[in-house]
Amino acid sequence: MDNRKVRVRFAPSPTGPLHMGGVRTALFNYLFAKKNNGQFILRIEDTDQARFVEGAEDYIIASLKWCGIQIDEGIEEGGSYGPYRQSDRKELYKEFAENLINSGDAYYAFDTGEELEAMRERLKEEKSSVQQYNALTRGNMRNSLTLSEEETKKLLKENVPYVIRFKLQENEEVIVEDIIRGTVKFDTNQLDDKVLFKSDGMPTYHLANVVDDHLMKISHVIRGEEWLPSLPLHVLLYRAFGWDETKPEFAHLPLLLKPNGKGKLSKRDGDALGFPVFPLEWTDPKSGDVSRGYREDGYFPESFVNMIALLGWNPGTEEEILSMRDLTNSFELEKVHKAGAKFDHEKAKWFNHKYLSNTADEKLAKAFQLILKEKEIKVEDSFVIEIVKLIKERVNFVSDFWDQSYFFFQAPTEYDKKVVKKRWKEDTPKILSELKKQLEELENFDQSSLEILIQSFLEGKEFGMGQVMNPFRLTLVGAGIGPSVLEIAELLGKQETLNRLQTGIDNIKR
Ligand code: GLU
Repeated sequence: MDNRKVRVRFAPSPTGPLHMGGVRTALFNYLFAKKNNGQFILRIEDTDQARFVEGAEDYIIASLKWCGIQIDEGIEEGGSYGPYRQSDRKELYKEFAENLINSGDAYYAFDTGEELEAMRERLKEEKSSVQQYNALTRGNMRNSLTLSEEETKKLLKENVPYVIRFKLQENEEVIVEDIIRGTVKFDTNQLDDKVLFKSDGMPTYHLANVVDDHLMKISHVIRGEEWLPSLPLHVLLYRAFGWDETKPEFAHLPLLLKPNGKGKLSKRDGDALGFPVFPLEWTDPKSGDVSRGYREDGYFPESFVNMIALLGWNPGTEEEILSMRDLTNSFELEKVHKAGAKFDHEKAKWFNHKYLSNTADEKLAKAFQLILKEKEIKVEDSFVIEIVKLIKERVNFVSDFWDQSYFFFQAPTEYDKKVVKKRWKEDTPKILSELKKQLEELENFDQSSLEILIQSFLEGKEFGMGQVMNPFRLTLVGAGIGPSVLEIAELLGKQETLNRLQTGIDNIKR
């Protein structure tokens, strides 16, 4: 097993948009594959036609692309083990189900929905500790174990709807090694003879998943913890098929928890708790409801990937800012935690801030120019680069740039009332007029010259710093926000600064 070529698969069902937990599963598979020179396969598990959602498959592929998770084999890429969509492999599964019937590991069951319901009711009334269809109960049901061979044949011939169930042994302890969870034990008496195949010709998840993992030579199954209860069945299926020797290794990833740590982060939490749970925006094809996406919220794919990689895993160092290459180099399945990982929206924003501050000013300016263009503001790139330099430390997203810098592009037309009340005193117009006079004389209108001028102005007149600078800011910005007043003045230039100063003096009323 150890010498086997690493082949992992991400096997989503196209039942809706990919949740960030799903992206993390894909990412961990990808990192593990790349670390071990292996292949990352995307397999679409669409055997449950009733839950099929239009557009979900494209959404999954687009999400992986956005994250930079490259697929080696899949529906678009092809590969030697295709097709990679289970509905396109439909014909293949029946034979495997029948093989299990022939070997005595599976059986036909003809029970109707009502009969199954009646069984459950009966077991409830009897206060039975087992509510499952298995060795303890199947003897009372309508299946090929209780019916004669003739009767079974007759029912099949008459096309009476059936399912093929796996035949669990009674009193068997199934022991499995999980890379993350260690030894896990299951008692077959507590399990269900799961349905493997239905008379509509479709396999269930369990059969298709195991058969495909085998045929696609998957070496490691890395998936969410919600699949742990299916593990004993899968392991028994490998044994029944005689595939024990080449059975993959298993690793079940911890759940993603809500920010308060209480319960699993669900698809609905995003809307309720005010952050995206999907990588990309998603429009429900039936209801038309739109759910937020990290991409549309302004996250860089690199920061999103970095953030989700650290949900339930870390490289064992203090380093938190990790590129895809860093992640690949240091990823180890053994270091994935057992306990659920709490999602932290503030931390997600922090990651984006870090990536933004490490992005070249020119690149950020380009992105900001798109926003400015939408507002029909035409300015030189060099000016936008200066602004970006000044405010990038204060923002998390490119979309925050405008709120932090709008005053560079338009003179104030009104003034924040609260700030006026607090900062605009009786003598302010007089003080600012005197300041303006001195500024008019200043030749080099740069920060350091401005600073020298202001210092001597304050000292000469015995004014306090706040007395001058706060109302000065108000005239330039219209509010109490922004970087240092002198930086703003320098960027606005002499003429614009003087104009705004004068407009403020004329118009701001206490
Ligand atoms: N189709 C399953 C899902 O939707 C795959 C689980 C597995 O990886 O085995 O998650």
